[in-house]
Amino acid sequence: MADQVQVETNRAGADSRQLLRASGLSKRFGGVQALRDVSFSVDRGQIVGLIGPNGSGKSTCVNLLSGNLPVSAGEVWLGGELLTGKPIDAVVVKGLSRTFQSTQIFPEDTALENVMLGCHTLFRQGPAKSVLRTASAKRENLELVAHAERSLALVGLAERRDQIASTLSAAEQRLLMIAVALASKPEVILLDEPAAGMVASERRALAGIIRAMPSHGISVLVIEHHMGLIMEVCDRIVVLNFGQKIAEGTPAEIRNNQAVIDAYLGHRDHA
Ligand code: ADP
Ligand code: MG
Repeated sequence: MADQVQVETNRAGADSRQLLRASGLSKRFGGVQALRDVSFSVDRGQIVGLIGPNGSGKSTCVNLLSGNLPVSAGEVWLGGELLTGKPIDAVVVKGLSRTFQSTQIFPEDTALENVMLGCHTLFRQGPAKSVLRTASAKRENLELVAHAERSLALVGLAERRDQIASTLSAAEQRLLMIAVALASKPEVILLDEPAAGMVASERRALAGIIRAMPSHGISVLVIEHHMGLIMEVCDRIVVLNFGQKIAEGTPAEIRNNQAVIDAYLGHRDHA
């Protein structure tokens, strides 16, 4: 066991508890340095928060981790594997999936169909829509349905299975995006402002859903502005300001960190 840990340490430059590791991530958009030398990790079974003022680089960081944008510098590791430079599909297959800050669903398809389209990386027969329509793929299709139903259940949308996505409430559409991301059986999920547009009761339900993820073998990186949600669900919090990491610690440490209060917590109502 000690040998195994040592091997992984050598390969990833980190210990084996670390599932997702950002190392020296930087991103430049023309003249804008959106992210500068940011390093942190998400351990297995952990929920980590990524917070900071608007424009501090949170979404850019998620885009680099997920492979939606190429890095200017730095590396992303998942377990012992280097993700940097891999296409998004490959990153998803390796076990990382994400949701977006804006709601992205297929509005005319049902909740179940949305999730099944997100399942396509689990199946080898090519584009999801053709898999769904091929008689020879019936058994796979049944597995696909069962798996999609489990993903819907994890976000509390089991009863909405056959509802057209555009007729779901805004909060339910946000949850559907999480179910879609869960459909690829990720080891780690990145949630970019999942509570956007939610009222307090909906945020409470979301907090319960996020907190339950580690018990399903899913670690979480969550960006949020609602400090109540962040402080409630996170094991650790990473704080960005002007593209740089200014603090990292437990919720209690972050709440009392003067640099964080000056840059962020003291500047707006984070109820
Ligand atoms: P956050 O999610 O913390 O609000 P972002 O990561 O969206 O911050 O943005 C960080 C900085 O990078 C901002 O100055 C933003 O304007 C800039 N930025 C983000 N995405 C792009 C892009 N695609 N092209 C140019 N500039 C961008
Ligand atoms: Mg953002």
